[in-house]
Amino acid sequence: MGEETLTVQGGCQCGAVRYEARTASTDAYYCHCRMCQKALGNLFAAFVAVGRRELRWERGEPAYYKSSEIARRGFCRECGTPLTFEYLDDGEKMDLTVGSLDEPGLLRPVEHFGSESIVGPFFTDDGLPRERTEDDEEFVARWRAAYGPDSVPGSSSGPPSA
Ligand SMILES: [Zn+2]
Ligand SMILES: [Zn+2]
Repeated sequence: MGEETLTVQGGCQCGAVRYEARTASTDAYYCHCRMCQKALGNLFAAFVAVGRRELRWERGEPAYYKSSEIARRGFCRECGTPLTFEYLDDGEKMDLTVGSLDEPGLLRPVEHFGSESIVGPFFTDDGLPRERTEDDEEFVARWRAAYGPDSVPGSSSGPPSA
């Protein structure tokens, strides 16, 4: 695990939203879950964890979409660039999209999360560890607190319609 923290800058494609933040480490991760696939319009997301109190919006602020009962995602309301992912009950950390960083190459991926939804034809195995959504105990606890003990964690592409 990378112990080094980094001060990073980034923002959206159009420049309306700019941020500076401090990463928890140089480690980033892929998320292949269906909700990230939909939210990013891509086959996976790449995120890095940052200290919430050390994230400053230097220009503009994101708009937010509550992508489930437990999380919201920030994006530029002008150009649509996905910028953040955060749990509603976590005051310490949140994620930034690696692609919105000015220098994404300063980080390195360490894990494939949401591996149950990896889309094979678009995936090249790089040997990094994989974790299924249902094996992340913190995530499962959050999901079941919101949706009930019998719910399947992360199974929807949005809030249940029922
Ligand atoms: Zn923008
Ligand atoms: Zn995800």
